[in-house]
Parts: sequence; structure tokens; C-alpha cells
Amino acid sequence: MDFYCGIDAGSTATKAVLIDSGKNLLASEILFTGYDVEKTAKSAFESLLKKSGVKEVKKIVSTGYGRMRIPWAHKTFTEITCHAKGAFYLFPGTRTIIYIGGQDSKAIKIDGKGKMVDFAMNDKCSAGTGRFLENISKVLETDTIEMGKLALEAKESVRISSTCTVFAESEVISLIHQGKDRNSIIRGLFEAIVSRVLSLATRIGLEKEVTLTGGVAKNKGVVDAMKRILGFEPNVPEDPQIVGALGAALIALEEEPSKLG
Ligand code: ADP
Repeated sequence: MDFYCGIDAGSTATKAVLIDSGKNLLASEILFTGYDVEKTAKSAFESLLKKSGVKEVKKIVSTGYGRMRIPWAHKTFTEITCHAKGAFYLFPGTRTIIYIGGQDSKAIKIDGKGKMVDFAMNDKCSAGTGRFLENISKVLETDTIEMGKLALEAKESVRISSTCTVFAESEVISLIHQGKDRNSIIRGLFEAIVSRVLSLATRIGLEKEVTLTGGVAKNKGVVDAMKRILGFEPNVPEDPQIVGALGAALIALEEEPSKLG
């Protein structure tokens, strides 16, 4: 049995996945990326070996923002390719992938064979990213996970018209002062971020099935707002944050040995 590893060195978190030649997931790790990308990637890799008891890995593929900073990876692929690979493997009916990460978001369109046909991305501003929720959670004196729970308790949404983080913050402060219900404001914030991300998908033509990837899809408030705005249930992987790393590991396996040599 051979073993393959995918490492997704994201701007916020480093994700690592270990699979065997039967495509079984043996171990995964998520660490805060921090300043030293290579060191974090190494720690994540070593953690996989420790968790699984595997001694030797045949191929390592890196992806993500810091993918070029892992010199011991055998090959690198873009996040778009890896998220497409991972999402299609988990949900073969996927035609649109909505990725929401710490500092960027993307909509990726794939065909019936899992091949990327188009994509749109936002990496210029924090609207529609985890960073937006993190900044606003400070104003609300809570954290993003708690925000997700509070949004589910709300009976209605307060519309937030600003998608820009800075303007949204002052809008939220003003809504609090107007005495609006905090949970309804939070539900409105999730709708604002989801609408922003879905505008990327509309640009490339949103097609069913929709699969959510990226760490922000772990947020219950995001998934709930997504269902409401889409009007149907998107596929949510058991751990949406590791889909890119899983895709990288699958590429390592499938490209071995003929193409990578
Ligand atoms: P990147 O690849 O840019 O590093 P990720 O896909 O790893 O991004 O996602 C990181 C984001 O996921 C962070 O902004 C964080 O707030 C969010 N996140 C991670 N875990 C959770 C969780 N359990 N619940 C809600 N949000 C989460």
C-alpha cells in the first residue's frame, strides 16, 4: 500500500490530508499558518504521520496561497484545481463549487467529468470572506462560531446594505443603537456575505449541484443563509476546510507514476 499527501497552505490555515492508494482518508490536520509557511506545513505533515502511523509517503502535492514555499512537495497545483478535484470526488454531481476562505472567495464551475470550465474570484477585498465575519464579530463582542449559533435563533433578518467591511461595521453599530435585535442583525450579516459570494457564481452561471468548500462553510450561519438564498440545499462536506488538501492528495495519487515520473 502506498500513501499520498496533499498540503493546502492557505493564507489563514494550513490543511494537510493523508490518503492511501485506495483513496481512503487516513488522517487530516489543520494548523494556523502563521509567518513561517514551510515550518507549519512540516508540522502538519509530521502530525499526519504520527496520527496514521505511516512511515513513508510516496508523493506530496501542495496547493494554496503558500504552495510555492514548500520545497519538499513534489508538485504544486492551484487551489482551483484542487478544490474542483476534492469536491467532485466527494460529490460527483457537483457543477458549481463555492469556496469561502479566510481572505478570499471563489466560484468554480466544473463539467460532468470534474474538469474546471470557468471560475470567478474575489481576493481584493474582505467582503465575502472569513475576514469580514471576524472583523464584525469584534464589533458584536462575540466570535464567528457563536455568531453562527445566534443567527439560527433569529426569527428574521435585518438587511445590511454595505458589503464593504468598514461600512458594514458602522452600519451594524448604528443598527445596535437603533435597538434592532442583535441576532437578526447577525442573520442579516450572513446573508450579506453569502449574497456577495453568490454574485461570483452568478457571473459564471450557477448550476446545480452546488458544493461548499473552505473553512467558512463550517459556520452554521453561512450554510443556513446559503440555503435560504439559493432556495435549495447545497452539498456540505463533513469538513469543508480540508477539501483543497484532499484534492491535492488525490492528484498526487492519480498522477503517480505515469505523469509525475
Ligand atoms: P484559507 O485557505 O484562506 O486559509 P480556510 O479555507 O482554511 O482559508 O478557512 C479559514 C477560515 O475558516 C477562517 O476565516 C475561520 O474563521 C473559518 N473557520 C475555521 N474553522 C471554523 C469553524 N469551526 N467554524 C466557523 N468558521 C471556521
